[in-house]
Amino acid sequence: MPGKSKGGAKEKVKRHVSPRAPAGRKAATAPTRAGKSSKLKLPRETADRRAARALRILARLRECYPDATTALHHRSPYELLVATILSAQCTDERVNMVTPNLFRRYPDARALAEADPAELEAAIRSTGFFRNKTKSLLGMACMVRDEFSDGIPQTMDELLRLPGVARKTANCVLGTWYGKNEGIVVDTHVGRVTMRLKLALSARTDKDAERIERDLMEIFPRETWTWLAHALIEHGRKVCIARKPKCELCPLAPDCPSAFTFGNAKSE
Ligand code: SF4
Repeated sequence: MPGKSKGGAKEKVKRHVSPRAPAGRKAATAPTRAGKSSKLKLPRETADRRAARALRILARLRECYPDATTALHHRSPYELLVATILSAQCTDERVNMVTPNLFRRYPDARALAEADPAELEAAIRSTGFFRNKTKSLLGMACMVRDEFSDGIPQTMDELLRLPGVARKTANCVLGTWYGKNEGIVVDTHVGRVTMRLKLALSARTDKDAERIERDLMEIFPRETWTWLAHALIEHGRKVCIARKPKCELCPLAPDCPSAFTFGNAKSE
């Protein structure tokens, strides 16, 4: 099962040379930092053209990040669920520093349910929002112990009943551990990258995770959903970074309406 993400993908991101804007595209009027409220003036794209563009993007992501998966270290659905809850507002690297000790002390949901709240707070303090996360972890562990016979639920409806678990976390556990493509993880990277790619048309900002997920589910084949989210996260971390995306290195540039609109110039 998936564990730490493979490091080879970065090397596979090839330098892209001088992508040409599609015929008829007008110049961008204002670069955006995170795809929040793009003012790009683009010709209207038909649904068919957008679908075809999405498939080309999918193919390029497949070439660049064939083994994309979560960077959160885990060996069981319990560990993945705990790590994903801890990853809210925190880097995966920081979570990976905390979880080895945490999983030694609380190896399963039953042990976690009986944890002393103050000790648990201290153990996860460096991940931020530790009081709320402690409540979520204890609530989740108690419900798993009392209502799911110590097993991590395998359906969206059941996972969403657990304290601290919303669709992003449920999608991650269902897709990454159980291999069920129930939805698409939309985190800060997926939101930003897909808004820049103009693939989530009903969302107004990159924070509108619900609409972004719905739009992506309509346009991408279901069997790709889990991998796609991990690939977009990796792309967002390595290339389409928040402050200044590396469009000159981006293999998606020919199909990205936002390419080179951030004050970065094309290679000649
Ligand atoms: Fe992001 Fe690539 Fe588009 Fe640049 S070309 S905005 S790096 S997806």
